[in-house]
Parts: sequence; structure tokens; C-alpha cells
Amino acid sequence: MMRNVATVGVVCFLVAAIVLAAGCTHIRPPAGVTPVERLLITTGYCKCGECCEWRRNWYGRAVYASGPLKGKPKQVGVTASGTKGKKGTIAADTSRYPFGTVMYVPGYGYGVVEDRGGAIKGDHIDLYHQSHWQALKWGCRRVQVKIWLPRKK
Ligand SMILES: [Zn+2]
Repeated sequence: MMRNVATVGVVCFLVAAIVLAAGCTHIRPPAGVTPVERLLITTGYCKCGECCEWRRNWYGRAVYASGPLKGKPKQVGVTASGTKGKKGTIAADTSRYPFGTVMYVPGYGYGVVEDRGGAIKGDHIDLYHQSHWQALKWGCRRVQVKIWLPRKK
């Protein structure tokens, strides 16, 4: 009997640890920066070829707009800043929201701008999702986003 209780305890602990690890992206807004709120159009994407096909069809070819890989086709799953796409990765118009901009998107959570896309312009951002169905489920939403721009150097 005692043993069963202990086993249940361990299982619960493991489940909680996994949930926490999966849900925790360690993204927090920078201290001392006042956020601005803006109504943005958000779309979901993931690393699958279909989403890229979808993005190509909707926005034109996905290529690096600048940097050492300028003009090269964008690698699936790798962001423009060179990091791997993960939950919390946001693609934005970096002339407006530079790499490192922290955003809070209701229904999505905290994210950081680490990617860009040829047709991600102005007040349109792309939210990275772990799976294709999650990206599709997100679809296209117009939401009030909290934005912490990186400190000017
Ligand atoms: Zn996809």
C-alpha cells in the first residue's frame, strides 16, 4: 500500500516536471523597459514543409532578406537569426521589431523575435508552433500584443 502511494507520487512528480519543462521557454520581458501595446495580425507556422509551402503560396518565396545568406532559400526549421525554431520564436518585420524584441501574445504566451519572412511586413507577425496542427489551429488572429523593444545600445 505504502509502495503504491510512493509510486503514484513519483509518477505525478515526473508528469509535473515534463509539463513544466515543455511549457517553460524562459522568456521574460526585460526589466526597466515599458511595453507598448499594439493590435497585430498573427499567423501560426511550424517547421514542416507544408507550412513553408503555405507561406510561399501566400507570401511569396521565403528567402533570407539580408545577412551572409542573402537571397538563399530559407532553411526549414532554422530562423533568420540562425537559431532553431521553437515555441516562443516569432517572425516579424525586423525594421520595426528587431531581433530580441520580446512580445506577449494572449493565447500564445511570451515570445522573442528571432526570425523574419519576405512578406512578414509591418504589423504582421508569425508565431512558431511545435506541431503543424497547432499552427493550423492558431490560423490567423488579430490580437492586442504587448511589446518590449530591445534597449538601444
Ligand atoms: Zn506546418
